[in-house]
Amino acid sequence: MTIDEYAAGAAGVAAVRMKPAERTDERELLHLALGLAGEAGEIADHLKKSLRGETWDRDRLAGELGDAIYQWARLCTLAGCSPSEVLDRSTRAIEARIARQAQM
Ligand SMILES: [Mg+2]
Repeated sequence: MTIDEYAAGAAGVAAVRMKPAERTDERELLHLALGLAGEAGEIADHLKKSLRGETWDRDRLAGELGDAIYQWARLCTLAGCSPSEVLDRSTRAIEARIARQAQM
């Protein structure tokens, strides 16, 4: 499965429960962005346990990472960016950063 296939499948699942009269792309974008931020918070909250000397759970972390990627994929699609395009941009940014570091 490619990331774009994943996103297409995720698009068929309603992540945002809004009354049809209240649904706009702008509201849905905001809802997904806040959902992504919320999932990032859940990841951070789970991992902060290590600061208290507790162990974090790999499966729980994997679940939260999956929740985050779902929100991210939906956000990409609704914004008109294919996830593979976003990953390609990120890859080019990483490669440019590596090239700059190699010149230092
Ligand atoms: Mg979650």
